[in-house]
Order: sequence, then structure tokens, then C-alpha cells
Amino acid sequence: MPKLLTKRSKKSKKAKKSSPARSVKRVYFFGNGKAEGGAHLKDLLGGKGANLADMTLVPLPVPPGFTITTETCGDYNDLGQKLPKGLMNEVKGHLLRVEKATGKKFGDAKNPLLVAVRSGAKVSMPGMMDTVLNIGMNDAVVEGMARLTSNERFAYDSYRRLINMFGDTVMGVDHHHFEHELSEVKNARGAKVDTDLDADGLKEVVQRYKKVYSQIVGDEFPQNPLVQLEHAIEAVFKSWMGDRAIKYRELNDIRGLRGTAVNVQSMVFGNMGDDCATGVAFTRNPSTGENRFYGEFLVNAQGEDVVAGIRTPLDCQSEMGKWSKKSWAELLKVKSTLEKRYKDVQDFEFTIEKGKLFMLQTRNGKRTAAAAVQIAVDMVKERLIDEKTAVLRVDPASLDQLLHPTFDPKAEKKILAKGLPASPGAAVGKIAFTAEEAEKRVADGEKIILVRRETEPADIGGMHVSEGILTSTGGMTSHAAVVARGMGTPCVAGAGAVHIDSASRQLKIGDATYGPDSVLSIDGSTGEVMEGSVPLVEAKLSGPFGTIMKWADKYRTLKIRTNGDTPTDARVAREFGAEGIGLCRTEHMFFDPQRIHHMREMILAQTIEARKAALAKLLPYQRDDFLGIFKEMNGLPVTIRLLDPPLHEFLPHNEKDQQELANSLGMSLDQVKSRVSQLHEANPMLGHRGDRLAVTYPEILEMQVQAIIEAACQAKKEGIKVSPEIMIPLAGTKKELDYLKVFTTETAERVIKETGVKMPYLYGTMIEVPRAAVTADEIAQTAEFFSFGTNDLTQMTFGYSRDDVNSFLPDYLKKEILERDPFQTLDTDGVGQLIEMAVRKGRSVRPDLKCGICGEHGGDPKSVHFCHKVGLNYVSCSPYRVPIARLAAAHAAILSDDTKAKRNGRK
Ligand code: PEP
Ligand code: MG
Repeated sequence: MPKLLTKRSKKSKKAKKSSPARSVKRVYFFGNGKAEGGAHLKDLLGGKGANLADMTLVPLPVPPGFTITTETCGDYNDLGQKLPKGLMNEVKGHLLRVEKATGKKFGDAKNPLLVAVRSGAKVSMPGMMDTVLNIGMNDAVVEGMARLTSNERFAYDSYRRLINMFGDTVMGVDHHHFEHELSEVKNARGAKVDTDLDADGLKEVVQRYKKVYSQIVGDEFPQNPLVQLEHAIEAVFKSWMGDRAIKYRELNDIRGLRGTAVNVQSMVFGNMGDDCATGVAFTRNPSTGENRFYGEFLVNAQGEDVVAGIRTPLDCQSEMGKWSKKSWAELLKVKSTLEKRYKDVQDFEFTIEKGKLFMLQTRNGKRTAAAAVQIAVDMVKERLIDEKTAVLRVDPASLDQLLHPTFDPKAEKKILAKGLPASPGAAVGKIAFTAEEAEKRVADGEKIILVRRETEPADIGGMHVSEGILTSTGGMTSHAAVVARGMGTPCVAGAGAVHIDSASRQLKIGDATYGPDSVLSIDGSTGEVMEGSVPLVEAKLSGPFGTIMKWADKYRTLKIRTNGDTPTDARVAREFGAEGIGLCRTEHMFFDPQRIHHMREMILAQTIEARKAALAKLLPYQRDDFLGIFKEMNGLPVTIRLLDPPLHEFLPHNEKDQQELANSLGMSLDQVKSRVSQLHEANPMLGHRGDRLAVTYPEILEMQVQAIIEAACQAKKEGIKVSPEIMIPLAGTKKELDYLKVFTTETAERVIKETGVKMPYLYGTMIEVPRAAVTADEIAQTAEFFSFGTNDLTQMTFGYSRDDVNSFLPDYLKKEILERDPFQTLDTDGVGQLIEMAVRKGRSVRPDLKCGICGEHGGDPKSVHFCHKVGLNYVSCSPYRVPIARLAAAHAAILSDDTKAKRNGRK
């Protein structure tokens, strides 16, 4: 092993002493219609390896090769980044099989076999790991290739690509060193693009690349093809633990994988001349879902040229037939073969070598949410998949993209440039010129459009945080386009009129210049780049989206409610399909400027009479709000939570406002100050809040209950159905609930008697304190329903302050002490156990106990799965997350084979 490689490999702390048992099969062959692997072996062979084997079996034209297993990558890391013993012998054995299948020989100058080495994990991670092409080239083979193909230019082009890729990927020689040499040769020879260089030019490039290589690496470029192969395999394994790949897995929540597979495949060439090409394609449009071949190709080029966005590729649909009718017909046939076999949209790579088509890979295509919905519905119509599969094909979290606003079509727009509509959606923000700058400015609270000539894998962090991405070169399958679509971030690619000067942080479009403080609007659905901030309009849920939602509703068993405090919230949520209100936080109603004054008057009251007088002023506001909500919800259940926050939150904390308050209430500043300091608490979230307020000041509860029941009776009188649920926050003991129930019942009965309207209502509680969960069988004797307030329950179970957790949570996530932020995704092992116990205990004394969740987790798809599993009746989330929760609930039901249809059948 060369010195450099050993130096670069860091010892893993968990290094095992010996290599695992030798009998393990590590290498799987595919070629000429036969394969040892298959589509079922994705865990072991990675997505790419499994599909190469499967395509070989179809049979589709796949260049022969073999796959080294993902387990081997895991073992490589366990061994402190060392190839397991015996691996290279197994590889050599398989190389012989590839030689037999192709009739070529590795390292033989007369009839050389060249191979590509590519990564391929179970889950595709586009561009995140390493690839080396043309392995097997050396000074003798390049001459042999030139003779054999009668194409010296091609042979040297392949050789210089190998030195570049091997140097960059395997030995860490920065790509720009090679770029620099290439530009120099091009300039000296008057070549505009790479293809203008003739064989002599490329020979010079090879010489220069070798020099750069030996200067930086400190060793000559290896001439032994087996050494090249071994190092390339190792580089791919190593890239699994590279920063880029780790970050990608983190961002995409990819966990529990052993490593990447390595695919070693005989090379076919798209760069042998003008009857050769290479391309990438989707069987349907991954932006819109339209059922139309969607691909790009480059004549006389190698694969990475298309993805890198260096040359602008041609559209297959409009251009390939003109170039080669036969190839275009073949590709259309491949589209239908692939879809019939995999029953999903495929994203595939192909090469045409001297008119013959080869398939280099296929995988399920990443797509936007809009496309996912369209494709799922279309494929049901085409009888490729059934409704349940269609529902599962749409990622609930991705719906966010569809629920968010688009640019107002009526708004005035100053269009500066037009690029490709690479990833749909509207984005507005200030310009950042590097990914690093974007990350920093977003952390400081800015909204950013990341503007780059083209993006590269190292930009992933900046791309993730930006509102939108704009590039000036590159096509629909360039890095920026593919990654943005995967993230659901709006992207306009290849806007050629945009000239970016990252060094001076300037962007020029025509005569106008824009800097870091300029605001741009980009429309990823039209490709438009606009000046300033263009106004937005709300999204509409119709067409195929409505169909998917209808199917989701057919299978889910969980009800979906919304957290809403106003009639407007209620209306929006109903449009999104909410089936009730799971949490109305009444305190939000008190922050209105008119009302806050009465609230403060109530808090500052010195006597119970004065407090009641102030409360009486608040009552009509509350009643009107409740009436508005009842009307919007028209018979659906509405859970109203009584006052929850500590009172100090309503009081002014600066002297000027305190003085104004004192003046308006005829008090002295000192009196106001003294009440503020009296209400001060060291731990307000564990302090005088929730039902503890009502225990001290039952008159607050009485006012709220009166407002709820009066509004409900009024609504009923107006012919509107109502179903109120009065919810006590933060209870920890049955006695608290019993104590407050007396006041609740007395008030409600009084109003019912006064209005003469019969008004059934429920009296229940939030489960937010661990003690309430542990004693749920006692609590349920009084409470008629439970709503899990998982924000507080998480806070109190972990003992993490929900307001201050960010001072240490990022460390916990980075160091993997916690897998996820427990305030976003329910901690099912801890907090979840309390929920499960509370449901079980609660229902042991009250079998029909209605249980729901109203913390933030109610709209988080993973948490929704858990809620389904433990038998909650509903989840409640913010209006915009209602469709996400509906779909997640359907996924949970379908995946656990516990759908509505099944339940009905059991009854
Ligand atoms: C909760 O604690 O989960 C909850 C919904 O209440 P809040 O967020 O208002 O404390
Ligand atoms: Mg709470």
C-alpha cells in the first residue's frame, strides 16, 4: 500500500482486532443476462448494485461487472479503515469473470478492459460519495486503446479523465489544479470547449496532469491497474464517512446503514466520437409529474459532464430523434420496460457507444411533492399500482411544498432573467454568494437566495438553509436541480443572463448590479428571476392532491384536528380537512391591544370584586371569539383550554409602559412595579401557571366557562350544532381536577339554566405533567378526555426547558446523544411510554376515554405513526400541517395493516 494512502486512513476508535470470517461472500457478479444478486438485495448490494443485477436479469443491456457488499464497507470501518483480508482475491476472481463476459483483459494493452468504480448505498445519496472512471488506463494501455479504436483523441481524453478523477477522489489533489492545466492548454491552442482539443492537445494535458499529480502526491501516477482498482475501492469506502456524506445522511435522516456498496463495472464510452453519447433521464417529469420522457444527453461526452453542468446538455424529447432515430426509439422502450418492472418513476443513466445503448444504473427518481402526487394518481389510473401504494408514495412531510404560497399572478413583477424551472416554488430573499455565507446569514435570521454559477456537493449545508437556489449554468439534472428538488427548495438553474462574481460579491444582470443586500424573488415553477420581493398568495388543494387526500382519508383511522385560536384559523384548517379543534389557546385572545388592557387591569386588581369587574369586560370578547369558532366548526368538536401562561407574561416590563399602565388605572408606578416583581418566578414554566392559576383565582375559570357555554348556547339558538370540550391545562392530580370541576359545573349549569338551552359539554384535561400520566387511572375518574400536551410533557420528562434547550441541544444532536430534537419528533422511548401508559390506565377506568395529542408533535409524521400505534383517537396540529397529518395517519394505518376498511369489517 502506498505511503500516502496509509497516512490518510485514520484509525477508528472501535477498531476490531481481526477481520471477520473469511467465508462471507463479499462480491456479486452481474453480466450477459446472469446475476448473483437481484432487486431483493438492496441492503447488501445497495440500490445501484441490486438494480444493476436486476436490469441484467430483465434483460436490459448492462455492461458486465460486480458489486462489493455494503457489509464490506461496514467491516472496512470496523477494522480501522482497512480492507478486509481476502477481499482483493475475491475481487480478482470476479475480474476474471468480467474479462470473460466482455472478451477483454484488465491491463492488456492489446485488448484492454477498463472499469468504472462507483459507490451505491441502500438509499441513494446523489453526488455525495466518490466515483472513478476509466480505471485500467496507463501509458501502455492508452496507446493500445488509440490503436484499437483508431481514435487517439478518445484514448488520451479517457486517460486524462482517469488521472484527474483518481488524483482528486482517491489522493485528494484538488480538482482546480487539473482545471488550471486544462485551461492553459485550451487557451494556448485556441480551444473554446474541451472537445475542441485534438489528440496532441490531450497528450499535453495528460503530461501536465501527471506532473501535477506527482508534485502534489509525492509519487508517480500508478501504472498498475490493480493498484488503481484497490485504491479506488478503498476511496469509495472511505467516502462513506466523509463530511459530505455524513451531513447528507444527517439532513435526510438516513440512519442505521452499514455503509456503501462498491460497483465495479466494465466501461462503455460515450466519448468515442459523434456516434456516442451519454445521458441521464427520468421516465416522467420529476418536477411536475407529467408522463413524458424527461432526459438530457451530450454527444461525445462522459457521464460526469452531464451532471456537473459544465456543458449544456440537449433535451432528449426534442433533440435525440434528430441525432439518432434508433437510439431514441430504444430509450422510449426502456422507459416503459423500467416502469412496468419497478412500478415507479425511474431515474436512469445511459451511454450510447457507437450507436449501441447501455444502461448504467436505474433507481426510483427523486421528485417534488407536486410530481409525487401527480405520478401516484396517474399510476393508479394506469393500473401500475393500487390506491394504498399511491398513498404511501407521497411523503407526508413533503406536502409542505404544496401547502405554501406561490407568487401572486396579479402582482407586478420586474423579470430580470429566465432560467430553467428546476424545482418549483416561490422564494424571496437576499443574495448570498457562497454556501458558507448562506449558512451564517440564515443563522443570523436573514432569508437567503443562494446564488452560484453551479452548486457542488460541498454546498449542501447552505442549500439546505436557503429559501431558494439560483444558478447561472447547468441543466435540469445538474447538481443544484437534483438536490433542490430532493429538498423541496425552489430552484432556478442555468439562468445564463446572470453573471456572478463571487469574489466581489456582485451579481450582474444586463446593466444592473446586485449585492448581498439586494432582494430577489425566484420562481422555481417558471424559471423567472425577479427584482425585489414579489407578493405571495395561498396554495389551493385541488386536482390530484385532492384525490390523494381522499384516498388517505379512506384508509386512516386517526381523526385530525387543528390547533386554532381564531375563526380564521378554524376556517383555514377546515379547508385543509380538519375534523375539529384540538386546542384553542385562549390566552392568545388576550393579547389584542384592546383586550390586553383589561387583562392587565384584572391582574393588577387588589380585590376579588375589582378582578371580577375586569374579567366582566373580557367576557364579551371571549364569547364572540368562541361563537365565531363554533360557527366555523359547525358541529365538529372544539376543545377550549382555559388560561395557561403565568400572569407576568401579560404585564409590561419596561418602565415607560408600566408608567402608562399605572396612569390609565389610576395607580402609582410603584404599585405596578411591585405587582410585576411579586409575579416574578425563578422557573415560570414550573410555576404559577395552568390550572394552578384557576386554583388561586377560580373567577378567571368562571369567566371563561361562562363565555364558552354562553357562546355554545347562542350558537345552538342560531341553529348551529356545537360540541364544546372544556380543557384544564397542566393538572397533575385528581384533586385539582375535582376542585376545579365544582366551579366549572356550577357556572355551566347556571348559564344553561339562564339561557334555557340544553348544552352537553365534556370536562377533560391535558396530560402535560408526568405525574398525571403515571396516575392516569385516577385522573380519568374525573376527566372525560385526555389531550397530551407533549410540549410540556417533553419538557418535564427530559427536564429540558423548552425555551432554552437550544443552548445545548445542537451538541446533543451532533454527538448523537439524541437522535432527534424531542420537541419536534416525539421521544417514543421515554415520553411515548408515558403516553402509552396514560392511555392504558385511563381507559382501564373509562373505556371510552377520548385521547388526543395537541403538542407540536401532532403534525410530525413520525410522531403521528406512534399516536396511531398507541390508539389515540386524534392528533391536533397547526392548520397548515393538517394535510400532512392526514397523510401520515393513512401511512400509519396502511403500514400497520389497520385501516378503516379493516376496522369496519371487524365490527
Ligand atoms: C403542550 O404543552 O404541548 C401544549 C400544547 O401547550 P402549550 O404549548 O401551550 O404549553
Ligand atoms: Mg402546555
